Amino acid sequence: MLIRKIVNIISSIAGILMVTAIYFNELPSWSLLVLAFLWLLITAYGVANIRSGYFLKSLNSNPTLTEKKIAITFDDGPDLNTLKILEVLNKYNVKGTFFCIGKQIEKYPDILKKIIQENHIVGNHTFSHDKLIDTYGTDKFIGEIQKTDTIIEKNSELKPLFFRPPYGITNPNIAKAVKKTGHTVIGWNKRSFDTTIPSEKVILQRITKNLKGGDIILLHDTKIITVAVLEQLLLFLQRNNFTTVTIDELFSIQAYA
Ligand SMILES: [Zn+2]
Repeated sequence: MLIRKIVNIISSIAGILMVTAIYFNELPSWSLLVLAFLWLLITAYGVANIRSGYFLKSLNSNPTLTEKKIAITFDDGPDLNTLKILEVLNKYNVKGTFFCIGKQIEKYPDILKKIIQENHIVGNHTFSHDKLIDTYGTDKFIGEIQKTDTIIEKNSELKPLFFRPPYGITNPNIAKAVKKTGHTVIGWNKRSFDTTIPSEKVILQRITKNLKGGDIILLHDTKIITVAVLEQLLLFLQRNNFTTVTIDELFSIQAYA
């Protein structure tokens, strides 16, 4: 991806300059500060943006697709609101991909089972979805993933291969954890901000603007507003001859081990 390449090049240049400057003691000290700041900025960008691919390779869209196929993904469930989402998906005979939180599955195991029975795909979204999860060490993070896999397996006899980090945050520890567990990391390229934007219309505009085949939309099945947004989105997709597929189909990869 272009962003990743640019970030990597700038980062390498900054790194080389810093090392050279320290070694030869040639650059004025303020330039070191500038370089250090630049490096920090890039690192922060890499941590906060799954699409940057800075620390972790993730599938954020499939630009090689020539057909008008897109995938709709739902994070943070299962939740009581998931039932309403499932109703809308059923009404339009559309299948989605749900990134589920382990502790939520413990609360609503029957809703997880319903998602799977209705032929949607389930992926792993950690056990706790802790606000400070990006500070977890590798082993603790592996525990988050494995515990959730076990809960999903217990309720469905399926072992998910897809993983999505909470908040789309990536860092070296998460990268190491995912390498160890062997999951495929799934990102997105159409972020709805349905957790923060209060207007259905604005959310819909965000996700439908320049929508093309291979795109991945991020929604949250926990949000009431998303039920209405989803119905409008499905109508938009129908009108514009898009087909909605699950993530495994979008990339022709396996969802379960
Ligand atoms: Zn989440």
